[in-house]
Amino acid sequence: MFLDPRTLLFSLILVNSLMVLSLFVAHSVKGREQGLKKWAMAVLLETVTWLLVAARGVVTDELSIVLANMFKAASYAFMLYAIHEFQRRDFSLWKLFLPVVAVLLVSGSLMGDIAGRFVWVGLIYATQVVLIVHALLSDPETRQGRAWRLLFGGALMILLVLAIRAVAALSGHVDFAQPQNHIAVHWVQIVSFIAVMTITLLGSVGFVLLIKERTDREIMQLAMTDSLTGVPNRRALIQQAELLKAQRGDKPVSLLMIDVDHFKRINDTYGHPAGDEVLRQATALMTQRLRAGDVLGRYGGEEFCVIAPDTDAKGASILAETLREIIAVKPVRTEEAEVSVTISIGVACCATDQKRDLKSLLAEADAALYQAKQEGRNRVVCAASCLGELPGQTSQARGPGRDHPDPVSFGNEGE
Ligand code: GH3
Ligand code: MG
Ligand code: MG
Repeated sequence: MFLDPRTLLFSLILVNSLMVLSLFVAHSVKGREQGLKKWAMAVLLETVTWLLVAARGVVTDELSIVLANMFKAASYAFMLYAIHEFQRRDFSLWKLFLPVVAVLLVSGSLMGDIAGRFVWVGLIYATQVVLIVHALLSDPETRQGRAWRLLFGGALMILLVLAIRAVAALSGHVDFAQPQNHIAVHWVQIVSFIAVMTITLLGSVGFVLLIKERTDREIMQLAMTDSLTGVPNRRALIQQAELLKAQRGDKPVSLLMIDVDHFKRINDTYGHPAGDEVLRQATALMTQRLRAGDVLGRYGGEEFCVIAPDTDAKGASILAETLREIIAVKPVRTEEAEVSVTISIGVACCATDQKRDLKSLLAEADAALYQAKQEGRNRVVCAASCLGELPGQTSQARGPGRDHPDPVSFGNEGE
């Protein structure tokens, strides 16, 4: 074998130390507790482990074997701790102390029995790694991205290395270092060091990526959410419409354009904070009445839009009427006063066999809304597209409508 284990060990310690430094710097930049500091601690403890192993023959065996193993067990425990903290789960401290004490007892009593030590200490490590794998697999948020796969791969690699070392030691073919000897030169030791270096890199990069993926999701969420009401903003609504287009198949879809009546008057009478509260509570009331697949978003100002998949004209008009009624019957309680609120709704529909683009559907719902305003407000008007499916419904929207610059197709026309 060309690779010298001492050089490998030196590289391992160097890589680990640089990783610890980077992780602590990353933690100080990030600020929020997401487990990064604990992970950095884990790598630091592992670095001390390898320093003690490198000092074999220089320091006592108690330090080089027993203490080194204790640091290693503490390192795995801190990895688990870090993952728990990332997942915002409680971490019982016995999960930290128990393996360290167990390793102290086992490695202390098996100082002269390398094979026994490799098997029994290896089993303790393996249990810790299985707990790490379990924590990774059991949390849906952790598994949303791809970063956990790096950690998972690293964990499997550790289990493999532990198994190889145990089998090699038990078979008696491999001459591991005896107490007070230098580190033995053979392929199992070399493979172990290379694997350990890989695992540290995989694990640490994986953990940092885990945090990055969460941050990306949070930024995306912020960019897609209306900060006042907490519902999707206009951009998110358009995206949902695109998604619906892809998933719609030949099912109908309806669109409701909702506008709070005389909202300027509410602002002028009770003040803007009361106006904000009206928007918040109206949104909450409407959200309660929607089905799981329906999407309510704030289109802008005091205008909202509902995209109702798998909803025909009849269903859409019933939904619109329900929303209008729940807002009209219950005054909104604000700090300033109880405010009576009404909304007007324009409904546009895309029937089962129709292919419409979102732009025209929005324009139609908007024209219907305009008509509802013209006819006195606090009412629902269904656009021409709904009339064929609505017996007895004769009102037809007119009016100029407004320009909606987001041409998203609900159908598959032109594709
Ligand atoms: P109409 O019945 O015809 O819809 O009349 P309106 O008063 O509701 O409509 P108008 O477009 O004249 O006024 C809307 C007002 O909504 C003007 C704007 O200042 C206010 N507004 C827009 N966004 C917000 C918001 O986030 N909070 C508050 N408090 N007011 C807002
Ligand atoms: Mg209004
Ligand atoms: Mg308006």
